[in-house]
Amino acid sequence: MTKKLNILIITFFLTSIFIHAYNLYSENLNKNINMGNLVYFMLLEGRGFKNPDFNSDQLPGVKLEFGEAIKYIKKERYEKLTWYKCITGNGEFYLPETFVDEKRFSDYQLDLNGNIVIGTAEIDRVYSIPLDYMPTDLVSLNNKIKAKGYEWRKMRLRAEAKTMFERMIQDAEVSGLNISIISSFRDSKYQSMLYTRAINRHGINENSVAKPGHSEHQLGTACDLTSDEVGYALSKGFEKSLAYEWLTKNSWRYGIFLTYPRLKQRITGYTYEPWHYRYWGKDHWNKIFSKYRIMLK
Ligand SMILES: [Zn+2]
Repeated sequence: MTKKLNILIITFFLTSIFIHAYNLYSENLNKNINMGNLVYFMLLEGRGFKNPDFNSDQLPGVKLEFGEAIKYIKKERYEKLTWYKCITGNGEFYLPETFVDEKRFSDYQLDLNGNIVIGTAEIDRVYSIPLDYMPTDLVSLNNKIKAKGYEWRKMRLRAEAKTMFERMIQDAEVSGLNISIISSFRDSKYQSMLYTRAINRHGINENSVAKPGHSEHQLGTACDLTSDEVGYALSKGFEKSLAYEWLTKNSWRYGIFLTYPRLKQRITGYTYEPWHYRYWGKDHWNKIFSKYRIMLK
């Protein structure tokens, strides 16, 4: 009698363990499928890969467009690159991390017109702004402050940033220097063109150009500067120019700062760019202070 009871108790016990384990397992399974793991396609257009180790073998059935949301089921490391295993109606395919973005948004503030309050957006390799963000107060730059040979280029900045860059360039001119702008506002689609071009040239490990949504140029408050001393080019040689020396001493007076200094490469995740400057707004000291406090965390 007691033996039978024991068997009954043990059977009941084992069954409940089994049911509990099965529930846990299926819950996890559902979690993996329903977690809503989304990535966004960052090139102008492209296709998925069959397999990470046949990375030249693109799948003709899967055509992807810029900004398209794609669900992935897992990440795999292969040859120093993370690959996303994705699913669509057409089945499974792989995408290298250079093709997609997980979109973690920066903690910025918006004003009543839907524009980002100047100096509040943190943009780096991890944090971005929405792809469709475009300031409503963009104004065209005068040819006078454009780099020689680039007068044809349509350049725009947010009105307040334009005023400050213009003032800075004029003051430098008084000191006999010829600082000018080579690139200003860029929308995410234009950034995608630059990014796609860099990958086509240098391969899927390319990481020197910012992904769309991760460029300060999309804020409309950043400029690439150059001068006659470097033949109006974007070059690292700019750091040896008198123009650069003047900027190092004076740009802060206008709320304008170098974004990617040589010593901060590890923090920003981008390489040293002596030409890339951003306007941080009128109370820039508070913003810069909180920016580095966040970065140090
Ligand atoms: Zn730049």
